[in-house]
Amino acid sequence: MKVMVLSSVALVLFALIFPVAASWNTLPEPTDPVPDVTEGPTEDGGSPFYVPDSPPASDGAVTVRLLDGGEVRELSLFDYLTFSVASEMPVAFAPEALRAQAVALRTFYMYTLAHPSHEGADICSDSACCAAWHGEDFFRNKWGADYEANIAKARSAVSDTDGLILTFGGQPALAAFHSSSAGRTEDSGSVWSASLPYLVSVESPESAETVPNYVSGVTVSATEFRDTILGAYPEADLSGPVSAWIGEPVLTGSGRVSSVPIGGVSVPGTVLRSLFGLRSTALSFEASGDTVTLTSTGYGHGVGMSQYGANVMASEGADFREILANYYPGTELREL
Ligand SMILES: [Zn+2]
Repeated sequence: MKVMVLSSVALVLFALIFPVAASWNTLPEPTDPVPDVTEGPTEDGGSPFYVPDSPPASDGAVTVRLLDGGEVRELSLFDYLTFSVASEMPVAFAPEALRAQAVALRTFYMYTLAHPSHEGADICSDSACCAAWHGEDFFRNKWGADYEANIAKARSAVSDTDGLILTFGGQPALAAFHSSSAGRTEDSGSVWSASLPYLVSVESPESAETVPNYVSGVTVSATEFRDTILGAYPEADLSGPVSAWIGEPVLTGSGRVSSVPIGGVSVPGTVLRSLFGLRSTALSFEASGDTVTLTSTGYGHGVGMSQYGANVMASEGADFREILANYYPGTELREL
């Protein structure tokens, strides 16, 4: 497959425009907690529990400097990824989805090495900054008697994909991911200040039948809505009837709200999402009487791999390579 080359100059430019900490930071979705589906062992037909005799060759040979709780701890990439996978995706998900998640997280770790944002550490455990990471104590407390069975699923997802990362132009890709999409993923250029050729809008198969709380609404009083909007946009004119406050939204290519006129001011969907704590920018509005309801579909910024979409693809027979090829088109899987 011929892939476009993103030159190192372009990568540097991208890093300057859009440093990784900012990209990950300002967009909590890559580590948005996935709603807990079930965390116990399931009859998902997955691979048998697998505990390697020794850490896998590639991941076991890399030492991660993890900033966690104000301290830097050193651990193997294998151990880092095992607990990161468990922190980012329910282990009840299909094994191929967990493997895709392991590759995405390994790729993100390698991306952080190329775009450092922490002094003295490679990556941190803050879900709002780098990627979620909880250690053994957390999961023993959470899972109790199911700990060994559950962590084995994450461990085998990492081991089965030992050393594999996604690259573009020979460099680690920015393997963004999110919880669930509304039919299609989002183009990175619609959410971030820079667009990446492998983070483009693609189809994603999840639906209300496969995602808990797929459609969710926030209803606020007209007064609260007005105060919130005026707090951010004092120039907005919300003096008329509530039903006239919100205009026709401008949609992105994936159908999410790019911007919507409110009181004569164009409000970006991402800002609206933040202001009202919405789960996504796939929005619809209802303003009448003395309330405003904002309804969102899916969860997260929508860029890159949809975790629930990956799980649906896996349940329909796709392996992790096919899942990754769908959500990161044009990237290549390579060994570390
Ligand atoms: Zn961080």
